[in-house]
This record gives sequence, structure tokens and C-alpha cells, in this order.
Amino acid sequence: MAPAQRCALCRQTFFCGRGHVYSRKHRRQLQVALDRLLPQVEAARKAIRSAQVERYVPEHERGCWCPCCGCEVRKHLSHGNLTVLHGGLLEHLASPEHKKATNRFWWENKAEVRMKEKVLVSPQEYAQFKKSVVKGLDSYEEKEDEVIKEMAAHIREVEHSRQELVRSTLEVGFPRRSQSSIQIH
Ligand SMILES: [Zn+2]
Ligand SMILES: [Zn+2]
Repeated sequence: MAPAQRCALCRQTFFCGRGHVYSRKHRRQLQVALDRLLPQVEAARKAIRSAQVERYVPEHERGCWCPCCGCEVRKHLSHGNLTVLHGGLLEHLASPEHKKATNRFWWENKAEVRMKEKVLVSPQEYAQFKKSVVKGLDSYEEKEDEVIKEMAAHIREVEHSRQELVRSTLEVGFPRRSQSSIQIH
């Protein structure tokens, strides 16, 4: 009898040796694992050409399970108060460790060969992503500048109308009593 082995995908101990990967249960588990990973990889791939930078929120800590490596990977890449969306997953998919683990995973599980390249990010693609992160950062800063300018303009406007109000009330010579009832928002 083949020695007992533990299958990470099925989370089960089995005795049928290499035959296990062909069992219906295992094929189904493999499909489930890939179906869960692939849409996240596809979304991340879109970011290679157009990286998006956002202000950090705790939601960006979210992880993604990599069945090839058997570990949880950070989906986004945060630094200080900024997050590069999908940066964590892309960094992982481009790493030599992931490539090695994926080759092994595909071979061990007899997964469809043509699917393998989908979960691998080449060094060229990763270099392209880095360039697009630089662009993403620039446009984020521009956007932030716009917001700051708008806020400043708004504050100036409020300040201006407040002064106008004070001036007009003083010029009209509001009686002191009613002046205190003026609400300035
Ligand atoms: Zn299995
Ligand atoms: Zn991996």
C-alpha cells in the first residue's frame, strides 16, 4: 500500500499515491482553487498597463490565497498613506519563488498547461508595471493637488462671504442685539 500522503488542495490524507490527483474530488478542488485565483489575477493584470494609486484605507490589507505557493499573499501594496492597487499580487506573481512553486504545482496536479502562463507575470511585464506605477503616482499627486486647490478656493470663498457679511451688516448698522442671532455656516 502507498504511504499516506496529505493533499493540500483537498485538505485530506489519501493512500492512492499519484493516482489521487486524477480523482474526481481532487480535480474539483483544483478547479475551485484556480477559479478563485484567476479572476484576481486577471484584475491585477489590467493594472500592468494602468497602475492605480489610491489613498490607503484598511481595506487594502486584504489578501489573496495563492494555491501554487500555499500561502496568503497581499493583494495591494501600501506604503505610508498610499496604496498601489494590485501591486502586492503582481509582485508575488512575478517572483521567482512563485514561478518555481507554480511549475511544481502544475506538474504535481497535472493542471492544464495552457493555463499556467496566466498565473505567471514575466520580468518584462513587471518592469512595465513599475513604469505605470510611476505614472499612477504622478496622476495621483495631480489629483490631490486639485483637491487641495479646490479646498483652498472653497475656504477663500467662505472667508470672503463671511467678510462680506460682516461688512454689510456693519455698514447697514445692524442693531447689536440681532447681530448675535446671525448664524454663519
Ligand atoms: Zn487532493
Ligand atoms: Zn504563489
